[in-house]
Amino acid sequence: MSKDSHTITFWGVRGSIATDDPDKTHFGGNTSCVEVNAHDGSHIIFDSGTGIRSLGNRIADEHDSEYEINLFLSHTHWDHIIGFPFFAPIHQSFANINIYGPRRSGASLEKLVLGLFQPPYFPLTPKDIEAHVSFTEIDTGSVKIGDNVTVFSNPHPHPNGALGYRLEIGERSVVFITDIEHSKGNLVKSVVELSQGADILIHDSHFTPEDLPEHKTWGHSSWEECTALANQAGVKQLYLFHFSPNYSDDDIYAIEKRARKEFANTSAAHQGLTVELSAD
Ligand SMILES: [Zn+2]
Ligand SMILES: [Zn+2]
Repeated sequence: MSKDSHTITFWGVRGSIATDDPDKTHFGGNTSCVEVNAHDGSHIIFDSGTGIRSLGNRIADEHDSEYEINLFLSHTHWDHIIGFPFFAPIHQSFANINIYGPRRSGASLEKLVLGLFQPPYFPLTPKDIEAHVSFTEIDTGSVKIGDNVTVFSNPHPHPNGALGYRLEIGERSVVFITDIEHSKGNLVKSVVELSQGADILIHDSHFTPEDLPEHKTWGHSSWEECTALANQAGVKQLYLFHFSPNYSDDDIYAIEKRARKEFANTSAAHQGLTVELSAD
């Protein structure tokens, strides 16, 4: 990594449930997890789906003294949190893991995440976590990470609610919006505002436009909403994300091809993809 660049790495791009089907290995089967390493050393992760396991192994290897991880959860559906009990830094007493996620009535973020450590579903209890873990519930607002990074959050429509995030560092911005249902032909206004002029937009592309209507109320989008948003908000680069576990690599290549006709700078994100974003 160039020290003048930020890097964004996709560790899981699948929605709903992980898959290792042989026809899906290019885009990959791990669920939602995106790492942003800012060039000032700030370490930010969006979501802890199954993709966070391999990321955690690498991070744990990199550190032998106190360090900080900032994990922003879009929401607490399984595919966005299920990897957390397998995140190696939880077993490092010198790791500080700050978890941010939606505020909701009924159950705290802490209770929802630590509920994963629940025998007999899982052998460990929250007491077995050695890292220092903090929980911050957010809705519309912003969080500052170190001196240089600000992460803005914005609630959007999804069953049980979800948050979209905009990370800003210097002049650069990365927007992460997954598990969102726009109303037909009408993009959510606050989401257009959150995405305005972003260098990188990562957006839910779970269904094809043909499959989306019969899954109304499931809380998802197609590439059509992604490209419409990219055009309307004037973003520079679009990454399609959170693909149905039923779609093969060929299906996703076809989706990417169609989307590029509407917004040329479109890529379907794949597991293992690292993107460099110049810091200046
Ligand atoms: Zn999801
Ligand atoms: Zn969801």
